[in-house]
Amino acid sequence: MPSGYKVRQYGIVCKHLDAEEFYFGANHKVYPCCYLYDEEIEINMKRNEVLPSTQRYGDDYNDLTVHTFEEIQNHEYFKKTLAESFDKDNELHCSRCWRSCGDKGERSTQKNVES
Ligand code: SF4
Repeated sequence: MPSGYKVRQYGIVCKHLDAEEFYFGANHKVYPCCYLYDEEIEINMKRNEVLPSTQRYGDDYNDLTVHTFEEIQNHEYFKKTLAESFDKDNELHCSRCWRSCGDKGERSTQKNVES
C-alpha cells in the first residue's frame, strides 16, 4: 500500500478520498476511480442499471460535456456523499467499494469478479 493512504472507516482504502484520484471515463464522465467507472459500465450492460449516485444526481452531474471539471469535483457527491455511501445502510451505498477496496485494500488490484 503506498504511503499516505489511510484505512478509512469500515476498513476501506479509497483511491479517491485517500489518494485524490479521479478517473476520466470514455463516456466523458468523471468518476472517483476506475472501479466505479467499470461498475457503471458493467451493470448498465448487464442489467440496464446505473450507479446509485447516478440515480440520485442524474445522468450528467459528472459529465464533462455539461460541467467543468472544477464544478464536478466540487459536486456534493465527491465532497460528501461518496464517503457517506461506504455505510451499507446508506441509500447510495455501492457494494463495489467494499468489494474492491474493503479489508484494508487487500483486493485493490483486482477487477470485478462478480458474475
Ligand atoms: S471503489 Fe469506492 S472505495 Fe474504492 S477507490 Fe473507488 S470510490 Fe474509493
